[in-house]
Amino acid sequence: MDRRRTHTGTAGSNQYTKSQAGSLIKGPGGRATAKSPANNTLLTQLSDRPPQHYRCGEVWGTGCPAVVGPPTWIHTQDHPTADHQSSAAGDESTPPEILEYLSRHEEHSVRLLVAGNRSCPPAILEQFSYDEDVRWLVVRHPACPLVVLRRVSHDPHSDVRWGVAANLTSTPDMLEEFSHDRDFQVRWRAAQNPASLPATLVSLLADENPNVARAAAANPSLPRPLLAMWQLAHS
Ligand SMILES: [Zn+2]
Repeated sequence: MDRRRTHTGTAGSNQYTKSQAGSLIKGPGGRATAKSPANNTLLTQLSDRPPQHYRCGEVWGTGCPAVVGPPTWIHTQDHPTADHQSSAAGDESTPPEILEYLSRHEEHSVRLLVAGNRSCPPAILEQFSYDEDVRWLVVRHPACPLVVLRRVSHDPHSDVRWGVAANLTSTPDMLEEFSHDRDFQVRWRAAQNPASLPATLVSLLADENPNVARAAAANPSLPRPLLAMWQLAHS
């Protein structure tokens, strides 16, 4: 390995053959091994790439050995392609800094993929909660912070409230409020949510919408004896 070579930029640093690059960048899962510290050390020694930089293939799953780094993570105008970016946005093994970059993507469809990615960090989800285009999806994410769910729980868009009512992180007091929502789909999600209290579920048994009442009756958090008593009283 020629240790005299150094790289100060991100362009034109394609010094490896594809097979060499492949052996460097492919981990057990086939990609994105950059998160391993040991592997990072190896890559740094072998490549002389600047810190905080990855191979195009590590970040985007392209198999390409060129070096990419912040702020653009792109080394030419057409690589990675839009398809590579979309696929990384939805891939749970994509490094968090790349998800952060993609969260600012101008394409609404790419931001949606990041918002639905199970590995999306809470800080990005919080930032997304101010994005009208993806807020409805963010509130369904299991890692969506409670502070965000609370802030948007009175959102004028019912699909946002619908998502908060379905989220298992939502608290019993929020679900009690959703059980009185004017939109039956919001009430329906509160009736299905196991975080709802028995008292909330009992009141939903009498909901004007039969689907809501059925969901409350089927909720595992409603004690069976309570349901039997309610049914006896209302038969
Ligand atoms: Zn590339």
